[in-house]
Amino acid sequence: MRHATITIDQTALTHNLNHVKHRIPATTKILAMVKANAYGHGVEACLPALQQADALGVACFSEAQQLRSLGWNKDIVLIEGVFSENEWQQSLQATCQSIIHHHHQANWALSHVPNVSSPCRTLWLKLNTGMNRLGFEPNELVAVAKPLVAAGYQLILTSHFANADTPLHPSNTQQIDTFNQVLKMLKAQVDANTKASLCNSAGIINFPQCHFDWVRPGIMLYGSTPLEAVSADNLQLKPVMTFSARIMAIHHIAAGSSVGYGSRFVANRPMLKGIVSIGYGDGYPRVVDGSAWVSLHPQKLPSDTNNTAENQSLQAYRCPVIGRVAMDMIAIDLTDVPNPQVGDRISLWGDTLKGAPSVDDIAHSAHTLGYELLCRVTQRPIRKVLTASITE
Ligand SMILES: *Cc1c(COP(=O)(O)O)cnc(C)c1O
Repeated sequence: MRHATITIDQTALTHNLNHVKHRIPATTKILAMVKANAYGHGVEACLPALQQADALGVACFSEAQQLRSLGWNKDIVLIEGVFSENEWQQSLQATCQSIIHHHHQANWALSHVPNVSSPCRTLWLKLNTGMNRLGFEPNELVAVAKPLVAAGYQLILTSHFANADTPLHPSNTQQIDTFNQVLKMLKAQVDANTKASLCNSAGIINFPQCHFDWVRPGIMLYGSTPLEAVSADNLQLKPVMTFSARIMAIHHIAAGSSVGYGSRFVANRPMLKGIVSIGYGDGYPRVVDGSAWVSLHPQKLPSDTNNTAENQSLQAYRCPVIGRVAMDMIAIDLTDVPNPQVGDRISLWGDTLKGAPSVDDIAHSAHTLGYELLCRVTQRPIRKVLTASITE
């Protein structure tokens, strides 16, 4: 069997959710973001570990329907809102809450008002504070809010940071000021009970004065860092996804031999090279530069009868990725690994406590973010779930 595997650690996910809880006031609620199939982790595998979230956030109605079919019966928020009047009505039936970021959505909400007891009586009203992607302008917000409140809606003012990962970026204070001003105006002129939500993961960490009524953590739940300058380990976040495979072949190569497509890597010494059964067809990024590495975790051989304890604490070896990443395979440098074997386990990213690179390390080599690599793993790898009761 080909061993490309994605392992989801539910205990790590719960740990990260609790970590968010410890950072926020007891009265602040958590909208856990599970869009894009829980950032590539698989929503079904993640749900059991997110039971203590107050609500789940998704990008579209079909993602919400999936959550309902999996039995999630607390609130769901469509963070891009609905895309048609018909979808607005469907979302009411599925008791989803929506963001309202545009006049046409506000009109649908005014045309079809859910009954008093429906959770859909809460609307998330999106303010553009400077991201300039979605949302109403500060000077139009009161006019949009008034008829919605008159129709019976409870409003949560919401906005999104453009640079929350860079705490000193001047746009942050500007966005926070605008948000506070508009919130004050709404409370004074429309509804004193207006609620508020501003922070994603980076905001939760960098702007504790802005937690308001709801925070919206995404990436930190999955144990990848939301910050440019601080690693997930240093934030005490645990990686939820481990991406692994095995060595399928080992060869000696002579100095001067090249490896892989384009003959891009040329050995400058006699080398030992391993082929690992993982490639961009599984979601390992083809664009990594020469800094990418994997960790090798030796199998315990039947002949290793002594030193069992030591063997189990398992030293991991760091092996550079050499040559081009192919669709189904990568090559790694085994020259400095003592006695590597076909079948040895290779971590592409994930279990950093055992010596693997973090997804953020590989994202750095691929000139992107952990977010993208996590979302881009494909359907091909075998999926495994470590439930709370099973430890590896
Ligand atoms: C995706 C998303 C989040 C979560 O962002 P992270 O950086 O992953 O924490 C929060 N709010 C909105 C509106 C989003 O779209």
